[in-house]
Amino acid sequence: MGRIFEMVYEHGVIVKRRCRNCIGIALLYPSIYSAAVASLTYQKLYYFINMIEYVYAERFVAKKLKGVEDPPQSLETGAPLSKFKLIIAPLSYEADYLGLVRLLLAAGIEPLRERRKGGPIIVVGGPAAIASPQLALEIADIVLVGDIELTIPKLIDAIYHGNLEEIVCRDGFLTSDCDKPVKRLYVGDLDRSFHPIMQFRVPGSGEPWGEAFMVEVSRGCPHMCSFCLMAHLDMPFRYRSLNTLLKLIEEGVQVNKVRRVAFYALSLFDHPQADELIEHVIEMGLSASIGSLRADLLDDRRVELIARLGQKVLTIAPETLSEKVCKVLRKCVEWDRVVEVSRAAWRYGMHTKYYLMLGVPGEERKDVEETARKLAELISQSPVKNLIRVSVNPLIPKPFTPLQWAQLVPKKEYKERLKILKEILRGVRVSELPYNEAVIQVVIHRGDKRVALALRHAAEMGAGYASIFSYLKRQGVRIEDYTRQLDPNEVPQWHKMVDVGIPLASLKRAFETLHYSS
Ligand code: SF4
Repeated sequence: MGRIFEMVYEHGVIVKRRCRNCIGIALLYPSIYSAAVASLTYQKLYYFINMIEYVYAERFVAKKLKGVEDPPQSLETGAPLSKFKLIIAPLSYEADYLGLVRLLLAAGIEPLRERRKGGPIIVVGGPAAIASPQLALEIADIVLVGDIELTIPKLIDAIYHGNLEEIVCRDGFLTSDCDKPVKRLYVGDLDRSFHPIMQFRVPGSGEPWGEAFMVEVSRGCPHMCSFCLMAHLDMPFRYRSLNTLLKLIEEGVQVNKVRRVAFYALSLFDHPQADELIEHVIEMGLSASIGSLRADLLDDRRVELIARLGQKVLTIAPETLSEKVCKVLRKCVEWDRVVEVSRAAWRYGMHTKYYLMLGVPGEERKDVEETARKLAELISQSPVKNLIRVSVNPLIPKPFTPLQWAQLVPKKEYKERLKILKEILRGVRVSELPYNEAVIQVVIHRGDKRVALALRHAAEMGAGYASIFSYLKRQGVRIEDYTRQLDPNEVPQWHKMVDVGIPLASLKRAFETLHYSS
């Protein structure tokens, strides 16, 4: 156990002895501690890097999400961030860019690469970095393209031996000097790849993920829905064997003294032995949590298993119930199955939550009405109507997906469609992603030097999104230039920098088929 912040004791801390010629690495999580705990990638980075003999990695997190941040100090020793020569930051979400810039500024480190003179080497990775490489390189010196089990050892070895130039612009390592796309590196066999058993947390903190052992079941997803960034960035679909998973869980719950497991998988029931896995977890007397699920992979028995894990809410992500729109999303789930699965959840004492999407290319008022009516009819049959939740997002055109050229639905249309949905679903709790957050996501993905400057300005002003918009407006930049539909003959900037393994021509064909036939 170690001390974190003031008077709080933390489980799982590693404090390595400093040695001559050792590499000190600042592992910067661009958000607050509770988010860092829930990031299996960050946990993995921490223990994976610290296994290397001649390296010590110390963690840095933000104390708050907005406002003036104190100069960041490591959770291990209190060392200032500015003392580290190498900073590695995972960027999982678009909002992490602002968090990263904010923490660098608080440490007195210039966040914009071209302005930084003689500062630390800043390395970023993760889905938000790979999906927005142009913006990532406005800040970072190196973008890691691929799985950390392959990129991190090569990076550290090259830094240790002083031959970084030998790896840059090769597979997995993107810098601003690369003149052709850098290929993504990925692990083929998850059974042989590192998984942290020890996981840091503050016992008794009450954080939702803090009292669970996180286990990565699989990477990627075989369904490849046309809007899904993670399925396209993390191909091919890979999973750990049942034996490996059970060994990890047995050890993990013991070492971390927890009685709960959090499954990390984009689509858990695509694992061929998901049922046996859950049955074993139940036999071990553990509870578990599972993220959102595809209704077409569920049946009465599986819903019962989920209920026996102690899960209180069954989250299903049909996105749409319109037979036309689901084809554009390449995610069509039979309506009868959604009904059957929802009823099963209620029978087993769970509430249900539904994820919906609006603003899909070709979507019309009648499609929104079709979705809302079906859902209203289903919810009216529920014995726990007031506990049911619906969560709505606009379609965000994500890089490397077939819908990457699509426009972000204009605000007025989004609001109108939401209104239709909410009127028909009157009495049901409907929450929506604020439109500005969707805009920021698109602006980050399609971001450039102007966006980097806006991020820097917003971080100085306390990190509100409004400062990004006002800065861009003052510079004469139209937000619509970022959120507009792109010309499918245009090669998006991310394809010029990164090769994730999907040919551009196949994405373009898919876009034209989905978009223009809708
Ligand atoms: S099923 Fe879910 S995780 Fe898989 S591709 Fe579709 S949206 Fe992505």
